[in-house]
Amino acid sequence: MEPLDRPAVIVADMLVDFVTGALANPPSQATVAPIARLLAGARERGWPVCYCNDAHLPGDVEERVWGAHAMAGTPGARVVPELAPAAGDVEFPKRAYSGFHDTGLDAYLRQRDVGTVVLTGQHAHICVQHTAGSAFFLGYRVVLADDGIAAFTPEDRVAGIAYIETMYGAQTATVDEILAAGA
Ligand code: ZN
Repeated sequence: MEPLDRPAVIVADMLVDFVTGALANPPSQATVAPIARLLAGARERGWPVCYCNDAHLPGDVEERVWGAHAMAGTPGARVVPELAPAAGDVEFPKRAYSGFHDTGLDAYLRQRDVGTVVLTGQHAHICVQHTAGSAFFLGYRVVLADDGIAAFTPEDRVAGIAYIETMYGAQTATVDEILAAGA
């Protein structure tokens, strides 16, 4: 792949509730090791590492669709221990699918002159897709970390990634390819 233009990594919803808890998603467990490798490589290279984490309040709109999940301040709303934020990483709590919706993430990335967001986490067709859409509308290039993105089913995963590639011009590559392109 082409060299990455001023990348940052965004990890979406690798939370206890979404990996092993209220909305547990077994396929997401296979993404933990690749994401950990991506985060380690990003930190080594000085790329900003941002977490977009559901932190819901009672009555949030998503409750209509999913019921209560990842409620702010609960153990289920914490990042899984294997991917716990390191010094210098920033967590952006969110109350809707997009990591850019009312979170301050855009300002944070602009202040660091980020041009490309490398998206990882879950779910491909929900929060990753909405975060990718917001990034596109805001002018960022979007790269998807293929082995670091999960959904509830393989079909949803493929559909989410295909939509992001088609509509937002995203490139999809493995974690190792992404790290090589941004060395
Ligand atoms: Zn949610």
